[in-house]
Amino acid sequence: MSFELPKLDYAYDALEPKIDARTMEIHHTKHHAAYTNKLNDAVKGTELEGKTIEEVLAVVDKQPAGVRNNGGGFYNHNLYWKVLTPRGSGGPTGELKTAIDRDFGSVDKFKEEFSNAAATRFGSGWAWLVKDDKGKLVVSSTPNQDNPLMPVADVKGTPILGIDVWEHAYYLNYQNRRPEYISAFWDLINWDVVADLFHG
Ligand code: MN
Repeated sequence: MSFELPKLDYAYDALEPKIDARTMEIHHTKHHAAYTNKLNDAVKGTELEGKTIEEVLAVVDKQPAGVRNNGGGFYNHNLYWKVLTPRGSGGPTGELKTAIDRDFGSVDKFKEEFSNAAATRFGSGWAWLVKDDKGKLVVSSTPNQDNPLMPVADVKGTPILGIDVWEHAYYLNYQNRRPEYISAFWDLINWDVVADLFHG
C-alpha cells in the first residue's frame, strides 16, 4: 500500500480571494504530488515500505534525507488541506478554547504567538500549534518539511494546526508579503478539524 495524494474537500478556487486558485492547484497537483511520489520511491523496497506515515516520521533521524523531506512534505500538506476551509468557523470553542486560554492566556495571545512564529521562520518552513505529550499546547516552527512528529524537532508532539510558509504557498498572490498571507489564514480555519485533532 503506497501513500496516496489526498483529494481536497473543496475546489481550488474555494479559498479565493484569500488564497488564489492557481496557487492551490499548483501546490496540490505539483508540490504535494511530488512529495508523495518521492516518498513512495524513497521507501520502496526498504524496511519502511508498508509503514504508516507516523511510523516513518518517527525514525527519520536514521533515514536518508529523502525520507525526512518527502515524508514531512506528504504529512504536512495533508494536515494543511484539512485545517483549511472556505467556511472559516470564527475561532476555537469548547475544550480546545479552554486549553488555549490555559496555555497562552487568551485566543488572541495564541494567534499573536503563532503568527509571529510563522512570520519569523527564516526561509522555508512551517509554524505549528502542537499538543505535547503532557497535553499542553505550544507554538513552534520547523524548517523545510520537518514537523513536530520527527525526533529532530525542537518541540515534539502532535501538530493540530499548521501553516505552510514556503513561498510556493503564497507568492503568486502576496509576493513578499508573508504577514498578509498569515493574516488571511485565520479566516480559513476549520476549527472543528483542529478540535478533533486536539482530542485525538
Ligand atoms: Mn507547501
